[in-house]
Amino acid sequence: MSRPDFAFENTKPVIADRDLLEDLRAVAARLGVVSLPQRSYRLHGRYSTTAIKSRFRSWNAAVTAAGLTSAGRRDIGEGELFDNLRDVWVALGRQPRKRDMTKPVSRYTHHPYVERYGGWLGAVKAFLASSEREEVALVEPPRITASRGPRDPSLRLRFLVMRRDSFRCRQCGASPAVMPGVEHHVDHVIAWSAGGATTMANLRTLCVRCNLGKSNLPHRGSG
Ligand SMILES: [Zn+2]
Repeated sequence: MSRPDFAFENTKPVIADRDLLEDLRAVAARLGVVSLPQRSYRLHGRYSTTAIKSRFRSWNAAVTAAGLTSAGRRDIGEGELFDNLRDVWVALGRQPRKRDMTKPVSRYTHHPYVERYGGWLGAVKAFLASSEREEVALVEPPRITASRGPRDPSLRLRFLVMRRDSFRCRQCGASPAVMPGVEHHVDHVIAWSAGGATTMANLRTLCVRCNLGKSNLPHRGSG
């Protein structure tokens, strides 16, 4: 005698993992790409990205399971990673540690750095090596030229000036490493408007307060 079976039977067809992955691969093949962002799949795929994400926990995991690359990470180039590291370094006023790489101060976690350079310290060293190459170029004897360069120093030059000044205001010593929230400007010693050049020698780090406070003195520029 058999027992009646009251167990619930899900009659909604379940899409197999391999069908989902197959469709990811099919869309990538059709588009001729190896990295597949969600927005591309949404336009060309058969299934909902929400369903795929909930099945595989994340879009990147699904894409990786399909043998494709995760679009997000591949797109971060060295220039972007270094720009972000420079911004975090300036904001903190000291060498960032792995755990500092969180929002809002950092746009990226430490993961893409570790992935590319084999470790966090390796990433910091690669970044400093690239900054130093630039510094060597900057200390070359100045050529005689009528141009004093653009008024605004590049982001890289700003960083080098701040690093030379140990991320401290040259006037009052304020540092974001000691007082979070302190913001620095890079200031022309001889104002650009008075013929001062945008070079390491003529630039210095000032906190916003000191920089604004001295703006009416003669021969001192504002930034
Ligand atoms: Zn100051």
